[in-house]
Amino acid sequence: MLIPRHIGPKYVNRVTVKQIARYLNGPGNSTAKPRSQLAFAFDIDGVLLRGKDPLPAAKEALSILDGNNKFGLKIPFILLTNGGGVSEEERCRKLSSQLGVQIHSDQFIQSHTVLKSIVHNYVDVPVLILGGQGDTLRRVAEGYGFRKAYTTLDILNWNPSIWPFHNLTQEERASVRPADFSKIQFGAIFVFHDPRNWALDTQIMCDVIQGSIGGSHETNHTRKPVDLVFCNPDLIWQSDFEAPRMGQGAFRVAFQAVFQSLTGSTYPYIQFGKPTEATYNFAEVMLKHRLQGIPKSSLYMVGDNPESDIAGANTAGWKSILVHTGVYDPHRGPPSHQPTHQAGDVSEAVRWALEQEFC
Ligand SMILES: [Mg+2]
Repeated sequence: MLIPRHIGPKYVNRVTVKQIARYLNGPGNSTAKPRSQLAFAFDIDGVLLRGKDPLPAAKEALSILDGNNKFGLKIPFILLTNGGGVSEEERCRKLSSQLGVQIHSDQFIQSHTVLKSIVHNYVDVPVLILGGQGDTLRRVAEGYGFRKAYTTLDILNWNPSIWPFHNLTQEERASVRPADFSKIQFGAIFVFHDPRNWALDTQIMCDVIQGSIGGSHETNHTRKPVDLVFCNPDLIWQSDFEAPRMGQGAFRVAFQAVFQSLTGSTYPYIQFGKPTEATYNFAEVMLKHRLQGIPKSSLYMVGDNPESDIAGANTAGWKSILVHTGVYDPHRGPPSHQPTHQAGDVSEAVRWALEQEFC
């Protein structure tokens, strides 16, 4: 059956799915069941991409959402990833080119995007930014509103004896911001993305927390303890290498093991990223205008990681679909968190969800 032009994809935001369903079932069919709207949240690594390359099913899935489905509907979607390391705008430009569809920054949430919601507490507070290459993440942090963002390379440049096992490269030296860190009291450490030099970063985190840099917190009781914030809890993730790679969660475990050996206890921290409730709540608030009117129960999270994608979606009251193109290997037993459904790839996942909602 042909769908008239006035309720085609271009106008889906002005016409409810219920109205389209009523049309498809005919005007005289008053018993037609109302059909709910739906939207998707896709993880990226292991779902849409493997390394730099799109997975074969990704373009097909996105084409279905672009209106190439039997209802002619454009289905809204967002990307919700524990990745990061560059600005949202830069990543969207790259993703648009890789996936062949336009990805806008208002439909994209990466691990550190959630920091926009708390930056007002740290605008003029010196903060240490970890992860990424050179000072890329300093620029991202400044784009969020952090005015006093420093990197571990800045500190190593100030005093190379802090970690004598790494000499700054020419490129790293060009990225540093000179400062006298004997006078700078950090209020927080933000692990934006996976640290490139675990040893240097672990040493400087311990120094900042214990007061070896910027004055001791133990001798100055008027100072608040340094806040420690991680943006991605993933222990592993799927790159284009055959076996999963260690993620930021592995760095957190390593840091806490060292800190505990030094002090006898682990250091309190705040965790963002999937599967945390904070990140799913942030996604719902940030994307409200895009997902307007769509109930939580019709939001489908499609991911490859039971620990992050599936666990988070289940807790948030979304539907969850676990695909077999990433870190989860169905041959190694059932997933640690049970999804609503399992699918071979993202295209299968999208088709299944459409059937659930429309058929
Ligand atoms: Mg993934």
